[in-house]
Amino acid sequence: MRGTSQLSLENLTLSTRAAMSMRYARGRETHRFATGNATIPLWRRWRSRRDRDMTRYTLLIDTTRCMGCNCCTVACTDQFVENDWPPYSVAQPDTGQLWMSVVEKESGKFPAVKVRYIAQPCMLCDKPPCVTAAKNGAAYKRPDGIVLFDLEKSKGQKQIVDACPYGKAFWNEQLQIPQKCNLCAHRLDQGLQPACVNACPTQAITIGDATTLASTIADKKAKVLSPELGTDPKVYYVGLP
Ligand code: SF4
Ligand code: SF4
Ligand code: SF4
Repeated sequence: MRGTSQLSLENLTLSTRAAMSMRYARGRETHRFATGNATIPLWRRWRSRRDRDMTRYTLLIDTTRCMGCNCCTVACTDQFVENDWPPYSVAQPDTGQLWMSVVEKESGKFPAVKVRYIAQPCMLCDKPPCVTAAKNGAAYKRPDGIVLFDLEKSKGQKQIVDACPYGKAFWNEQLQIPQKCNLCAHRLDQGLQPACVNACPTQAITIGDATTLASTIADKKAKVLSPELGTDPKVYYVGLP
C-alpha cells in the first residue's frame, strides 16, 4: 500500500526541526518500554543483555491518540538526515525519503466525516519481501525482528526497494543503495527508544516485545495494515478506519 504523505521534507521549517533537535538535546530518554499492560523504565528493562537478546520487537500505534502532528516524521528525519549511524545506516538525502509518513484517512459521509491519521514506519515484516528480493544477504532480518540493509552488499540492488509492498523502502540515487526505517536499531542497541516513539507528544506509538504486547493487541483488537499482502507485519494499529 503506497500512502500519500501529508508532509514533504521541503515543507519542514528550520524552526520546527530546530525545536525537535532541542527536544532531543534535552533528552526525553526516560520514556518507557511496554511490557503488556504495565510499563517499566527502559534502563531497568534492558539492564540485562539476555533480556534484550530475547526481545522480538513490535510496534503498537494507536490511531485514536494520533493527531497528525508529524512530530514522529520530523524526529525521524532529524535523526537520519546528515547523520551516519554505521554499521546500521548512512545519512538519508535531505529530500525525497520519509521513513516515517503520516497518512490521513477519511471515513463516513458528510456531515459525519471522521478523520484518522496513520503513522507508517517500516512494517517490521516477519516475511519481508525486501529480504527475499535481495541478493547475497544484502537485506536480512535480525532475531529481534529488525530488517536491515547491508550498507556494502546492497549497493546497486534497486530491486530491494521495488519489492516492498508498503512503499517503505527508498532508493538513494547518489549512493546507489536502498534505505528505510530500521526501527532506530542504533538507539535500541544502546537501550534508547526509537526517535519517533520518543517524540510523539500523545504517546500514540508504543514499542514492546511481541509476547508481552500480545494481550494488549488482542484486547484492543489491533490490526495490521493490508494483511492480504501476506508479509506478517509486526506493526499493529488500534482504531483503524
Ligand atoms: S507524533 Fe504521534 S501524534 Fe504526532 S503524527 Fe506521529 S504518531 Fe501521530
Ligand atoms: S515494510 Fe517493506 S521494507 Fe519494511 S520489512 Fe516489510 S518489505 Fe521490508
Ligand atoms: S523507528 Fe526510527 S527509523 Fe523508524 S520511523 Fe521511527 S524514527 Fe524513523
